[in-house]
Amino acid sequence: MTKIKDISNFLESFAPLRLQESYDNAGLILGDQNSEITNVLITLDVTEDVVEEAIQKKCELIVAHHPIVFSGLKKITGKNYVERTLLKAIKNDVAIYAAHTNLDSVTGGVNGKICEKLGLENCRILQPADGLLKKLVTFVPVDHAEKVRQSVFEAGAGHIGNYDSCSFNIHGQGTFRGDDTTNPYVGKKGEQHYENEIRFETIFPSYIQGQVISALINAHPYEEVAYDIYPLDNKFDQVGMGIIGTLPEQLDETKFLQQLKETFNTGVIRHTQLQNKKVKKVAVCGGSGSFLLNRAIAAGADFFVTGDFKYHQFFDAENKIVIADIGHFESEQFTKELFYELLTKNLSKFAVHLSEVNTNPVFYF
Ligand SMILES: [Zn+2]
Repeated sequence: MTKIKDISNFLESFAPLRLQESYDNAGLILGDQNSEITNVLITLDVTEDVVEEAIQKKCELIVAHHPIVFSGLKKITGKNYVERTLLKAIKNDVAIYAAHTNLDSVTGGVNGKICEKLGLENCRILQPADGLLKKLVTFVPVDHAEKVRQSVFEAGAGHIGNYDSCSFNIHGQGTFRGDDTTNPYVGKKGEQHYENEIRFETIFPSYIQGQVISALINAHPYEEVAYDIYPLDNKFDQVGMGIIGTLPEQLDETKFLQQLKETFNTGVIRHTQLQNKKVKKVAVCGGSGSFLLNRAIAAGADFFVTGDFKYHQFFDAENKIVIADIGHFESEQFTKELFYELLTKNLSKFAVHLSEVNTNPVFYF
């Protein structure tokens, strides 16, 4: 039987909770992680109607993009939709899980799905994450260097751009002397030993530090493994906000707008002044992306496709880019498909249902 924690562990191996923004509340929001589940319901938002659908479809778990609870709740009495939704879920033993800004910030996440729908190529993160990368340096006897390298790479270290297994290795000499209680791998206890070693260094994102260090220690022959971990200032280009890519063929602006309308099935797109030029480079950010406008301009995007732009923010386009606000819900609608693919391709002992409730609170007349 699958437990809730099997699903959350898997989703968090893809979109680690450490990647969520400080204001966010992603993860298991309601329920016991040890509960067994047979059916999962996927939705963008959790509403009372969605909980009702979960009950009807016998789903013990709802997996959502937007967390129903953002800030602290002191009472749950049903005075607003959040409290009523939670009450209904608690009474009916329906658990709620959310993958939000952590799912926005991984390359294959919310924005990757938008790029896929638009057919964008050469995609890269628009605003790579700061403060995530670390360097591991360790010292290993020559005959064990390959084993340690492979083990650390398999744990996820050594990725730079589209390269894996990246490291630097220098030959040198290590020294050590163990006391009476030791059992050294080479040399004798109580005697100073000189050993030909390799200084092996590589990088890893901080959220996998535990598994990288375990892999190092498991593969290393010494009783006491010497290693250093350094924080790095480098940006991590595999994680961050927004994505920029190129269309396979450049399009007229109106043609591109038409394509947006069809792809996102939206009746209206709010956009800034067209620039009378072809569209080739496109920046995207699901949800509210106005904070990335300057990044999109600096990256040379012809269009910025996102949602939730306010009136005054449209002026900031300054004829340098076309902002296309397709709607918050519309921009993120394929996140359900993303969850479905992740859960059905990688885990199989439960049924996955796509919610049929349209949770978009915005109507167009
Ligand atoms: Zn959103």
